[in-house]
Amino acid sequence: MEGFFIFLVFVVLVFVTTIPYMRRVRRQEREARAAAERGKLHSGGPQAQHPHIDISRCIGCGTCADACPEGDVLGIIAGKAAIINGHKCIGHSLCAEACPVGAIEIVMANPGISADMPQLTEEYETNVPGMFIIGELGGLALIKNAVNQGRDVVDAIARRIAEGAPTPEDASDVCIVGAGPGGISASLRAIEKKLRYVTLEQDELGGTVAKYPRQKLVMTSPVEFPMYGKFKTLEISKESLLDFWNTVFEKSQLAVRTFEKVDDIARGEDGIFTVTTALGSYRARYVILALGRRGTPRKLGVPGEQQPKVMYSLIEADAYTNKNILVVGGGDSAVEAAMGLAHQKGNKVMLSYRKDDFARIKERNAQRIKECTDARLLEVVFNSNPVAIGETSVTLEVNGEQREIANDYVWVFAGGIPPNDFLKKVGIQLGAHDFTREAAAEAAPRL
Ligand SMILES: Cc1cc2nc3c(=O)[nH]c(=O)nc-3n(C[C@H](O)[C@H](O)[C@H](O)COP(=O)(O)OP(=O)(O)OC[C@H]3O[C@@H](n4cnc5c(N)ncnc54)[C@H](O)[C@@H]3O)c2cc1C
Repeated sequence: MEGFFIFLVFVVLVFVTTIPYMRRVRRQEREARAAAERGKLHSGGPQAQHPHIDISRCIGCGTCADACPEGDVLGIIAGKAAIINGHKCIGHSLCAEACPVGAIEIVMANPGISADMPQLTEEYETNVPGMFIIGELGGLALIKNAVNQGRDVVDAIARRIAEGAPTPEDASDVCIVGAGPGGISASLRAIEKKLRYVTLEQDELGGTVAKYPRQKLVMTSPVEFPMYGKFKTLEISKESLLDFWNTVFEKSQLAVRTFEKVDDIARGEDGIFTVTTALGSYRARYVILALGRRGTPRKLGVPGEQQPKVMYSLIEADAYTNKNILVVGGGDSAVEAAMGLAHQKGNKVMLSYRKDDFARIKERNAQRIKECTDARLLEVVFNSNPVAIGETSVTLEVNGEQREIANDYVWVFAGGIPPNDFLKKVGIQLGAHDFTREAAAEAAPRL
């Protein structure tokens, strides 16, 4: 009798614990399937880097989905990990690190899908032998990825140099174009490896990071930073990150030719590249392009856009108070700028986006913008487009109807036009083409 009673308690306990668990798993799966459908609808699937899941190894534990800081890139469908919002992946790689059975690796999208991306070898070499691409220009976002690639590409170049004939006296071993996180890391590694290098930057040092809004909290991951060692900080203000870099630059005597834009690159018959700027030309045996993908800001193309009150980046939100402001765009930059401006005294901020929801933004920003709109700190107008910008007003087309609103400033965050024309000019092919690592190696200059 006592045995039967214990058995009964056991059965009840099993039911009480497993039924809610099964319900939760089913609900999560339903949500994941719905999100996957939405993800496909918005983006057609992953367009750059994304996790590749080996289904035969996946044990469906969900650790990968929990580890992703972007929130809903991965989910569990039919007991296995699945990509539900591939377009939101920006290459943290934490899913791959967290997977207990090593079932995930980060891969680049099929070149047929990312038609405007360069195809690269494992050593980041392009179809132009001796010319490399790193950082966001190669399709992988985030500071840590740019730093890792900058370091690794110089290691690959140093190996080739050690194996080949010496570089001619009048040439550098490597010319690095762009001094954002990728170019900085490559330059510092070149110093560490005792290579002769020249780094050219069209603007100031720091790349996109230098253009972040003031006091922006930068999310980083532990990374091996050349000429410094392990950089372990996970969250740091933009200013503190730039200060840290400056100390490393001073200690390592990093030399960067700032405000010198590279206009052209051509390789001579001797296998040496000539890199041309408005101020001169530089001979180099290898070239690393670390140009980022921001390029020139994309414009709206509407009447009145040429006025100085229309801007394409925001550094100091607190310089604007008591103003009528329109922010245009639906990505993280637009949402962050709108929220930053809405928190300043007396500002009336409207965020206009041409689509019907923010499908591409980080989970954290999605929550914060909802809190802002619920608190009536700012107004979001979906399905809208600015059609004219006047001196003191803007005309918005909302669901086919025109609406005139008072306006002092407009910020446009419609993305950048990536430097694809420049890449084509220097011979780099974009998208799918007949290109193998062996072919690049075969055609590489023999010095
Ligand atoms: C608003 C915003 C917030 C972000 N927040 C984070 C974050 O919190 N954490 C994180 O890890 N990442 C973040 N990112 C992404 C991160 O900033 C980028 O992935 C990173 O800066 C890419 O580094 P990069 O060196 O490849 O390119 P970039 O930083 O874009 O640098 C490229 C450099 O090349 C120069 N250049 C371009 N063309 C030429 C030319 N022809 N001649 C000479 N120089 C040229 C440019 O002037 C620029 O300085 C954020 C991005 C944005 C836009």
